[in-house]
Amino acid sequence: MEKDQIIYQSTRSGHLTATASEAILQGIAPDGGLYVPDHFPEYTDSFEHLANQSYQQVALKIMSMLLTDFTEEELKHCISCAYDSKFDIPQITRLKEAGGAWYLELFHGATIAFKDMALSILPHLMTTAAKKNGVTDEIVILTATSGDTGKAAMAGFADVPGTRIIVFYPKGGVSTIQEKQMVTQPGENVHVVGIRGNFDDAQTAVKKIFADKAIQERMEKSGKRFSSANSINIGRLVPQIVYYFYAYGQLVKEGKIPAGFRINICVPTGNFGNLLAAFYAKMMGLPVENLICASNENRVLTDFFHTGEYNRNREFKLTSSPSMDILVSSNLERLIYESADLHTQMTSTFMDQLSKEGSYQISEEMRADMKEYGFYAYYATEKQTAEEIRRVWQESGYVIDPHTAVASSVYHRYRNEIEDQEKTLVVSTASPYKFVRSVVTAIRPELAQKGEAQLSDDQLIDMLHEISGVGIPKAILEVQHALIRHDTVVDVPDMEGEVAKWLGL
Ligand SMILES: *Cc1c(COP(=O)(O)O)cnc(C)c1O
Repeated sequence: MEKDQIIYQSTRSGHLTATASEAILQGIAPDGGLYVPDHFPEYTDSFEHLANQSYQQVALKIMSMLLTDFTEEELKHCISCAYDSKFDIPQITRLKEAGGAWYLELFHGATIAFKDMALSILPHLMTTAAKKNGVTDEIVILTATSGDTGKAAMAGFADVPGTRIIVFYPKGGVSTIQEKQMVTQPGENVHVVGIRGNFDDAQTAVKKIFADKAIQERMEKSGKRFSSANSINIGRLVPQIVYYFYAYGQLVKEGKIPAGFRINICVPTGNFGNLLAAFYAKMMGLPVENLICASNENRVLTDFFHTGEYNRNREFKLTSSPSMDILVSSNLERLIYESADLHTQMTSTFMDQLSKEGSYQISEEMRADMKEYGFYAYYATEKQTAEEIRRVWQESGYVIDPHTAVASSVYHRYRNEIEDQEKTLVVSTASPYKFVRSVVTAIRPELAQKGEAQLSDDQLIDMLHEISGVGIPKAILEVQHALIRHDTVVDVPDMEGEVAKWLGL
């Protein structure tokens, strides 16, 4: 059978097309739009078959359906470089039944958060894509991070020949352990910079640098080109589709559902990449009923799904789930495009309004489409999040991190309101060790009265070890004694200058 070729095009212009490898190299389309597949390939194998596949086999299957200009050998190479002993369980991801839900643990990689799922393979996809396209430029990854992307991207790209990576994070807007993980990153080709601003400031400035023609010319002259490790890159999105298929297979294998049975997926959401991947999995034929978008107090997506108005003009809140402290969810653009019946002009107009006025309103028709796709949205307050960590632990002894707790809390609310008893995957995006202070104080609220602030992270880590009975992950043990290698902090307007300086432009 002839292979179903997938071409990528910009959400903002039908003329801007690229092969998968070109789209991965570029990151973002030249008009500022995001690359989307021109159609969704259909998964036609049986789910009984899926149930017997390893993670790597499922990855090969799904990725070769979407990255059609990569050869099987190329993909196999990338997969074997990525999904190996960097993960602390051989099956890469795992399902855990606790407190009335199925948690899909995506935090068994090098940095103990779900970003590892995609960022451990992205550097290999990128260097393979460069080779395929005869690109000899040095690839410079420019990334804004709300905490987890930065470290996972650096871990993936550190000392990969032909690449360099520069990461901006909001100083004071990430957890102590997240910051420590980043500023201790070794590797000749990595640079980490704190900014005086929040994640949205960092992301907006990074997008501006990408669009700046003058700096691009200087890059070209010195044999360099930018790419992005943010979740707008299809090289991140596609590997994220894999675990939904794999997890579904595991549910079938363990006899929890009959093959073909529909499930719900509930995702703690920030930039909308992870939930979009679940939506793409559904479009490719995975039996998914509802897609539940869980937000923290930065509830811009909850409001959007309830009213059709996306409005970022609101107070930005720092929460215990910092990787979801986002007011501009970049990947939503891809859903807007789908719901606008693939209308690039309309998508373009909305995104223009968003950047100029900070808001846009979609049509009733588009809202109906999103409903049809199965989207639901709720948010959890800080209090509900802490209570959920405590409840799940009390009922089952299982400890979840604050991001996962947002999703878990939202899921129980959804289940009560909709009275839907379907099996639901609650996506678990980080190890509780990564957010140890919030987790331990949620389980032991009396510590707050006794001055929990006095306790060091190391003491809290030992307490969590006692509470959960789960071994301290290698990623935590490593940062406890690592050297601080990066201490640069800049103002937002100086980010571009910092990039130029470090690259010697
Ligand atoms: C990035 C991240 C999220 C949000 O994922 P998106 O794809 O941006 O929606 C949730 N939880 C954790 C721990 C993360 O690192």
